[in-house]
Amino acid sequence: MALNNKPKKSTLENLENKWPKKYRVCPICKNRNFVMTENVYQISRYFPHKLVQGPMVPLIVVTCTNCGYTYLFNALTLDAVKPKS
Ligand SMILES: [Zn+2]
Repeated sequence: MALNNKPKKSTLENLENKWPKKYRVCPICKNRNFVMTENVYQISRYFPHKLVQGPMVPLIVVTCTNCGYTYLFNALTLDAVKPKS
């Protein structure tokens, strides 16, 4: 799922509020610059020999601009997507 302008802006603001700039340091290369992808991704529970099944976790991907180390943030917590009701 792509984040359009408004959800992308509010998601980025939520991320910046929850992850203050002083704590944004890459654990691999110590870079302080990251980019957030414009899409929501998902991981699902693993079931052998089956494709998608069961609960999934929506994720916001944030990547270090130097080494590519990647953080995965829960998109529900960042309010990028709404929980299924
Ligand atoms: Zn890095």
